[in-house]
Amino acid sequence: MAHDYDLFVIGGGSGGVRAARMAAQRGARVGLAEAAALGGTCVNVGCIPKKLYSYAAHFAHDFQDAAGFGWDVKPPQFDWARLKANRAKEITRLNGVYQQLLQGPGVEIVRGWAQLVDGHTAKVRTEEGEKNITAQNILVATGGTPSVPKFPGCEHAVTSDSMFDLDPFPKRLLVVGGGYIACEFASIFNGLGSKVTQLYRGEQILRGFDADVRAFITQETRKHGIDLRTGSDVRAIRKTSSGLEVTLLDGSTVTADTVLYATGRVPNVVGLGLDTAGVAQSKAGAIVVDALYRTSVPSIYALGDVTARIQLTPVALGEAMVVVDHLFGQGKRTMGYDFIPTAVFTHPNIATVGYTEGEARKTFEKVTVFRSEFRALKHTLSGNGERTLMKLLVDAATDRVIGLHMVGPDAGEVVQGFAVAMKAGATKAVFDSTIGIHPTAAEEFVTMREPLAG
Ligand code: FAD
Ligand code: NDP
Repeated sequence: MAHDYDLFVIGGGSGGVRAARMAAQRGARVGLAEAAALGGTCVNVGCIPKKLYSYAAHFAHDFQDAAGFGWDVKPPQFDWARLKANRAKEITRLNGVYQQLLQGPGVEIVRGWAQLVDGHTAKVRTEEGEKNITAQNILVATGGTPSVPKFPGCEHAVTSDSMFDLDPFPKRLLVVGGGYIACEFASIFNGLGSKVTQLYRGEQILRGFDADVRAFITQETRKHGIDLRTGSDVRAIRKTSSGLEVTLLDGSTVTADTVLYATGRVPNVVGLGLDTAGVAQSKAGAIVVDALYRTSVPSIYALGDVTARIQLTPVALGEAMVVVDHLFGQGKRTMGYDFIPTAVFTHPNIATVGYTEGEARKTFEKVTVFRSEFRALKHTLSGNGERTLMKLLVDAATDRVIGLHMVGPDAGEVVQGFAVAMKAGATKAVFDSTIGIHPTAAEEFVTMREPLAG
């Protein structure tokens, strides 16, 4: 039977757009359904606007740092409305870029909400009405959505989706959570001038990161003025005339203008017709896929956040490349989930690749640890008390560098380069024989000579 398309993609976010345009470039007939703005989470309410706001927040520190370098800066004024408007304009421009990226190679964009009917059919609800679209293969790339627990007054909390357009600017912000989003937004709004309280239910924020990194960023963010409380959680939120009154588990209260819940994201599968089409899901709702991103229905594929593995844009992009190569290329491409670098855009930034010390000690017989903590050259004149942490983990048996961690300015930029070396299996001897770039913070990674004892 002739289908409308060779590939029909549901979701025009990071993974869906990459898969659609790459498939079309290889000559496939491709359609893509998107219910909201093109570019998905990353472009509209994720990575990009978040990073723009992080830049905005960094200026606050820069104005302070400037004095030690001879600059007298009048007390700066921050215009939240201007930042929001400039961000919105840039995001609209990017939406257009994504449209061109799709239409250029011939992808047909269907504006509407798609639902699976069977292995080769999706029903799309558009402004003009419903239509059935058939395809040889269907790719589900519907991403994720924020998840907020149920408790008295939870309707007063907002999620990261709302943070970019808050009106008015929150003078007092309460952030709940200790993951990527909570830590990043706490730093950003602290920099922009909010009085930020961050609550984390556990002992140490950023579960999954190296223990040294977690302790170090806790100390640094507190230095920056964030009231970070661990072992703390919310019991209820009540709206009062002076703001949102948040009662904590210990009975104390915090009053805030905005309460941000950043307590994880769940796969975007509601109303997707997975049951109807027979697509298997995990207990948590994620679509289950094999190494080639095939679901339990052989003609339906899924990738990115909807599969709830590693929820990062470059991971969704890498997965898309595998699917396209499998369906329309030589079928040689695979995706490796080891040594995936990642950054948390806190102030200062965190970036990491490879094993944490805890994981490394469980995996390798003997691990050598190199650790350096210092005040960056810039801060010798700025007077800023911020410090930088760098850490290397080496498998003593093979000399391979198996973990690299940094907390400090531009950590993401630094670690991206080292991630290539790590992926290539660089040894500590290779690091040692690499000539540094002086004077940089990054050179510390190639000049660490003395391991920690033990
Ligand atoms: P998405 O990009 O979420 O795209 C899914 C798309 O599908 C959406 O456009 C949605 O409207 C559409 N859709 C859903 N259901 C349907 C349907 N039934 N019919 C039609 N369309 C549908 N990652 C990083 O690597 N770096 C970062 O700095 C970073 N920062 C982030 C900051 C925030 C605040 C958030 C929330 C996320 C961040 N991420 C970051 C994660 C990153 O955004 C995601 O991992 C990535 O966007 C996942 O891509 P995806 O293609 O799986 O889904
Ligand atoms: P995370 O999974 O990173 O963090 C969720 C946090 O919320 C954890 O601290 C968790 O605590 C806590 N939590 C979960 N449930 C509850 C609850 N019921 N009550 C109180 N606290 C709770 O999710 P995020 O929402 O921060 O981000 C989602 C994903 O998006 C990230 O995992 C990441 O993959 C991606 N992302 C990437 C970014 C980047 O690359 N820079 C930036 C932003 C997002 P506990 O640890 O105890 O479970």
